[in-house]
Amino acid sequence: MKTVNKIYINGEFVTPHGTETFDLINPTNNIKIGEVLLADETDTQNAIAAAKAAFKTFSQSSISERITYLEKLKSAVQKREQDLIDVMIEEYGGTYQFATMSNKNTGGWFDSIIETLKNFEFEKNINSSIVRLQPVGVVGIITPWNASNSSVCSKVATAISAGCTVVIKPSEMSSLQTQVLMEAFHDAGLPKGIINFVTGLGNVVGTELTNNKDVAKISFTGSTAVGKMITRNGAETMKRVTLELGGKSPNIILDDADLQQAIPMAVYGAYMNSGQACIAPTRLLVPINKLDEVNVLAKATAEKVIVGLPENEETNVGPMVSVKQFERVQNYIKIGVQEGATLLVGGEGKPEGLEDGNFVKATIFTNVRNDMRIAQEEIFGPVLSIIPYETEEEAIEIANDSPYGLAAYVSSADTDRALNVASKIDAGRVCINGFSHDPMLPFGGFKQSGIGREFGVYGLGAYLEPKAVLK
Ligand code: NAD
Repeated sequence: MKTVNKIYINGEFVTPHGTETFDLINPTNNIKIGEVLLADETDTQNAIAAAKAAFKTFSQSSISERITYLEKLKSAVQKREQDLIDVMIEEYGGTYQFATMSNKNTGGWFDSIIETLKNFEFEKNINSSIVRLQPVGVVGIITPWNASNSSVCSKVATAISAGCTVVIKPSEMSSLQTQVLMEAFHDAGLPKGIINFVTGLGNVVGTELTNNKDVAKISFTGSTAVGKMITRNGAETMKRVTLELGGKSPNIILDDADLQQAIPMAVYGAYMNSGQACIAPTRLLVPINKLDEVNVLAKATAEKVIVGLPENEETNVGPMVSVKQFERVQNYIKIGVQEGATLLVGGEGKPEGLEDGNFVKATIFTNVRNDMRIAQEEIFGPVLSIIPYETEEEAIEIANDSPYGLAAYVSSADTDRALNVASKIDAGRVCINGFSHDPMLPFGGFKQSGIGREFGVYGLGAYLEPKAVLK
């Protein structure tokens, strides 16, 4: 049995004041594997006070000092790479493939921000005056369970670059990963109080961070529902917010695309992180005259997808993080059938031999209409909706007919044509013919997928306040 009973405040591991605990459950068999002692409001206030005290000095630090700290953090995290992969698989059933890919990339978050920082202008002259970009203050970092390490590392790296100090509240469901990261960040040996961790519940620690007057900004990644709550609660103290929220990303296959390549990629893409990914292309938009061919290819691909134990290297889809999430996905599959979509493959129930865990069959619905709930709402499981369209204009209309606007994908043999379609899609990121990622580019959502951007110069700017000094 594992126990997480420390939080990290002012350079020290301390026992939280809270008395409540949270059970960590293995999602492959629903057996308890550990317990987390939850922090409370007092712990959060202590962490904020430490970050506030450290801000006085750290906000004045030089760029080269910040780069040194970023290098130290990077190497400390990289040393714990294998531990991070192991606990990610154990704690939430992240597949070996996904856990390895996401943790091997962690160094990249630090490298890209160091590169950005080296070329960033913190001061500009406009007319005869000066505009200075000044660190916003103490930042509350609130992260989800499904992208815990990458979220924490990218947000911390950007905050440090700006000269901000932080209080991190990771998801209680990522507590084993948090423990490894806390140790790694401690080993990096930064001055006390710059980085603090408080593990607790959203409505306790998260709410205190959002309400507290000494926190200048919240950088949040999570669901749209909680993002709205943070915006409302933070309004009282005029909190700056960066919100990275949910998605229902369209994947437009144009009529000249190579289906043999695009469709298998679309299916595996929709199942990334077992379908528990904000940027997963969950709506596959295909020309109606290619629908039959697409159905055959998509079904054949889904039948090859391996749903299984996350630690097996060949597994593509692991369990859902919790029983609650499993039931939510099952409910959406039921709704899809009731709404009249055609179940192409998968469906309700657990795959054979995996009855003890939160496993969902690799599922595809076809003949989906975009106004169905399975096309409008974020399911967060391995469920793909194939939606036919008549014309390119209609495909764009369907793509944009969503409350979300996080990512989008376009496949075409003609790059100019794909670029033209991309220019008409309301999404923070559009990938052409694939699923590329570049941490120097801005990341974030249109509409209810969020507010603001992360990464690169746009991300750094969101941790800074412009100050005009008139001479
Ligand atoms: P969640 O919104 O339930 O929780 C996210 C975090 O918010 C957790 O740490 C939680 O404890 C905290 N929280 C809960 N209530 C709070 C409150 N009232 N005040 C402050 N904090 C509170 O999300 P989740 O289930 O952990 O993660 C899945 C969601 O995250 C999905 O919707 C997914 O699309 C989204 N997500 C978005 C991105 C992105 O970059 N846009 C990336 C990953 C995940």
